[in-house]
Amino acid sequence: MDEKTLQKSGGCMCGAVRFETTGEPSAVFHCHCHSCRKHTGAPMATLGVFKADQVKFSGDERGIHRSAPGVGRAFCANCGTPLSWETAHNTFGLVCALHVSTFDDPDTLIPSAHSFYPERIPWFDAADNLPRYEGFVIGGALVRHGPAIEDLPG
Ligand SMILES: [Zn+2]
Ligand SMILES: [Zn+2]
Repeated sequence: MDEKTLQKSGGCMCGAVRFETTGEPSAVFHCHCHSCRKHTGAPMATLGVFKADQVKFSGDERGIHRSAPGVGRAFCANCGTPLSWETAHNTFGLVCALHVSTFDDPDTLIPSAHSFYPERIPWFDAADNLPRYEGFVIGGALVRHGPAIEDLPG
């Protein structure tokens, strides 16, 4: 299937907010930052990064929580499902990073890195050999490859 016609879809738990993406994401990664953890309630979040014009929302208007200057965290105002990290003030352009677990077929979005690795909960790591970055994956400093098993309790 060619890049322009590649479509993926997803939405919140109750189905009120739906989205469709066109084309491939520019990155898929796990994020350990404090803000993603608060937004999702999970020890890490996995995001697929799309340009804003690759994403089309439908159904109910999504709620937006302004988590930082120029950054919105979108969610379903009905069921509370976290949907995206969005910004219009980014050196990479208008970005809509969607939570991979909200896609109808998340199997096809395969993470290639970890971001904000030093912010992770110390008892948590993942059993993959992917690169772990200090901050953002794009242009960020590399911390290590693979889990920091020496830091884990027991
Ligand atoms: Zn919902
Ligand atoms: Zn994050």
